[in-house]
Amino acid sequence: MSSQTKADVVIVGGGPGGTATAIHCAQKGLKVTLLEQAEFPRSHPGETLHPGIEPLLKRLGVAEQVLNAGFLRHPGHYVEWQGEREFQAFGEDEQGPWLGFQAVRSQFDSLLLEQAQTLGVQVLQPCRALEPLVNQGQVQGLNTTLGPIDATFVVDAAGSCQWLARKLGLKTTPYSPPLRAYYGYVTGECPERDQAPLIVSDTEGWTWIAKVEHQRYQWTRLSFERQPDAHWQPQDLANLCPEGKARAVDVTWRLVNPAAGPGYFLVGDAAAVLDPASSHGVLKAMTSGMMAAHLMVQSCQGEQLQPSSASRYCAWLRTNFYHDLIHLQGFYAPILSALSSAPTLQSTSL
Ligand SMILES: Cc1cc2nc3c(=O)[nH]c(=O)nc-3n(C[C@H](O)[C@H](O)[C@H](O)COP(=O)(O)OP(=O)(O)OC[C@H]3O[C@@H](n4cnc5c(N)ncnc54)[C@H](O)[C@@H]3O)c2cc1C
Repeated sequence: MSSQTKADVVIVGGGPGGTATAIHCAQKGLKVTLLEQAEFPRSHPGETLHPGIEPLLKRLGVAEQVLNAGFLRHPGHYVEWQGEREFQAFGEDEQGPWLGFQAVRSQFDSLLLEQAQTLGVQVLQPCRALEPLVNQGQVQGLNTTLGPIDATFVVDAAGSCQWLARKLGLKTTPYSPPLRAYYGYVTGECPERDQAPLIVSDTEGWTWIAKVEHQRYQWTRLSFERQPDAHWQPQDLANLCPEGKARAVDVTWRLVNPAAGPGYFLVGDAAAVLDPASSHGVLKAMTSGMMAAHLMVQSCQGEQLQPSSASRYCAWLRTNFYHDLIHLQGFYAPILSALSSAPTLQSTSL
């Protein structure tokens, strides 16, 4: 590929952060290229979506496709956190209770990627981002497994591996001790979990169980003290059949700064990670992608200078991250205070 193929925006990663960025930019007439290293459909954890995602899906023009996909819906969650189990409903209006989605990510991410392609986004897949092309501190494109691509903006939406932050040596601040989430899938029947997901705390951490498809359940375990072995399974799902071994993911709370700069934006997990108890990683990936897209559109149309777009984005991202962080710290306080060697959570100042 050569400079003849120069894009306004090149996006690394075809998860919800990358596709939301791509769709929003394409809707506003920008020339967009998106590269994704995996063949789709590919599996990914993160199925449970809050009903608050629906307005975003409408804005991106995929609400109908998602509603027609037949994903399971649920009216809230069961929470058993240092006490009685209670049902926390999402809310309701005159049309009835608000419902979340159990969006199977292989399908959900494919629907968003198809919408991006329909709007004219050039999708390179499988194609892996290698190195950013940087000239005098300005990101001007990237090298990929299919060759170099020049672009006015490079967006890192490659998820929690934080590709561009590592390549540019950006500062990543941890806000928790190292945390690993373990997750797995099982097949069979667990009627108690069919109405709504459940999160249960214990003396060391928590366990989440959600029905994600007919006869298929996902569990996530986070422990502050010890890691489960490869064959661990929640008690409620003990008689169900595991799909392979449990997998582990680094979910240490962290924020990259600056998450935008000359010629680049970081969106979704590439910019900020909290553990899954914060429960809306997909929503955050999409909103940060749409926010970055909005600022890139303004910049490409000459309405606003790039440096102020970058600082506005960083401030917006940091405010949202701290808001979620303070909520999560409050959520964990009862567990951490009971541990003999409680890990310290980073204090926050806005
Ligand atoms: C166990 C677990 C459970 C979770 N549960 C939930 C949940 O129930 N609800 C929720 O909202 N969130 C949940 N999350 C969080 C959610 O999965 C993430 O926040 C969300 O997927 C982030 O989206 P993203 O687009 O930023 O990145 P991702 O979805 O990770 O997408 C990144 C994409 O980039 C591609 N990529 C990576 N490197 C490159 C490269 N060099 N070149 C090209 N492509 C590349 C990857 O293949 C991938 O497709 C969970 C997370 C974990 C770990």
